[in-house]
Amino acid sequence: MAIQRPKGTQDLLPEGSPKLSLDTQASAFTHIQDVARRVLERAGAQFIATPIFEDAELVKRGVGGSTDIVRKEMFTVTYFGDHGGFILRPEGTAGIVRAYLQAGLKQLPAPLKLWTHGPMFRAENVQKGRLRQFHQVDYEVLGAEGALVDAEAIALMVGVVRELGLKGVRVKLGSIGDPEDREAYNAYLRGLFTPHLERLSDDSKDRLERNPMRILDSKSAQDQDLIRELDVRPMLDSLGEAAAAHFAQVRAYLDDWGVAYDVDPSIVRGLDYYRRTAWELHHEGVGAKSALGGGGRYDGLAEQLGGPMVPGIGWAFGIERLLIALAAEGVALPAGDGPLLYLAAMEDAQVAFAAKVAQEARAAARVEFAYRPQKPGNAFRDAERRRARYAAVIGSDEQERGVLKLKHLGTGAQQDVALADLKTFLEQENA
Ligand code: AMP
Repeated sequence: MAIQRPKGTQDLLPEGSPKLSLDTQASAFTHIQDVARRVLERAGAQFIATPIFEDAELVKRGVGGSTDIVRKEMFTVTYFGDHGGFILRPEGTAGIVRAYLQAGLKQLPAPLKLWTHGPMFRAENVQKGRLRQFHQVDYEVLGAEGALVDAEAIALMVGVVRELGLKGVRVKLGSIGDPEDREAYNAYLRGLFTPHLERLSDDSKDRLERNPMRILDSKSAQDQDLIRELDVRPMLDSLGEAAAAHFAQVRAYLDDWGVAYDVDPSIVRGLDYYRRTAWELHHEGVGAKSALGGGGRYDGLAEQLGGPMVPGIGWAFGIERLLIALAAEGVALPAGDGPLLYLAAMEDAQVAFAAKVAQEARAAARVEFAYRPQKPGNAFRDAERRRARYAAVIGSDEQERGVLKLKHLGTGAQQDVALADLKTFLEQENA
């Protein structure tokens, strides 16, 4: 058997591929990127791209040494037989904050809004919507702390999925408070769980010492049973005054703009550098346990990476999960367009001429040509398969007179267009 792609990866395929589905359709994928670009750049975000491999230490500090991502799911990079201490990035935020610090982006006007998209890597158990290479669209705002930035970030995330045509999306909004609120909350959790230590999963026994809040995030059924039984008070009811005021302010903005959300006290982000606002975007088509995306404020991250204090907030959603949600709602995405014009030549003598006309016309539109002479019947059939709007077959007569006989493949109507007017004609058709 020919070599297969690695488990947990996908090929994105061109239009017309056999067995094409929405989640592997390259044009659907790029459509999501295009919509995200449009929505985010209109809001002032600038594109940034960072390497797909980074120092492992960046990810350990940026994502957290106690997370599954760092403990179990890192793809390490080996070269020349040496382990270089690099890993394939599992998410985008740490790399962007590293670049912000390294490139001195603090000098740019704040808040600095950045966005990117690209592949992320986690060695997870593969299932629907859970891949080892997946793709995220990522938005980050650096250098501003106000609740207005948080509310705008949430509204933009909702804006992208709305513009894609998705309807059944819910924002689950929470707050994880300030570090001192969390310290108090962690002390409360330690007091609550310690008498039941033996009932916690091994991972959570570990968490109880290092970071009890992460127990609430545990995927273990054993832990979740205990959490329910102990009727744990949520972090959201333990916010300090400043964090509570910030949360109320974020909600007031969203209410004012008509951005719907559900307050969800179960949203947890246990790492030290997270502050205040945290949320997830859910869709029933993707399943209750898997989010379309998530976001949060991370004012402590830059310091964690060895830089100064830089307030930040950001979100990411998975493109593959979005495609699952779009498919579940039956949203029709624009298929990749065909050429505006397909040109063929009757005989060998006109092939190079047709190719030249096509190349010049490409200044105005997408134009394809046949590499061998074609009879009109074959040329029109090929043009249709490529989903062209117009087709023309150039014979010696057309070449001499400098005129194309364009056939509209939808209506069958024919019209003569002088070569001198072709560019203008195509520009008008493209408008
Ligand atoms: P996270 O960085 O874990 O908050 O993930 C943000 C988003 O990325 C999730 O809501 C998913 O949409 C997507 N995502 C995370 N992990 C995977 C994965 N293994 N496969 C596909 N999408 C993923």
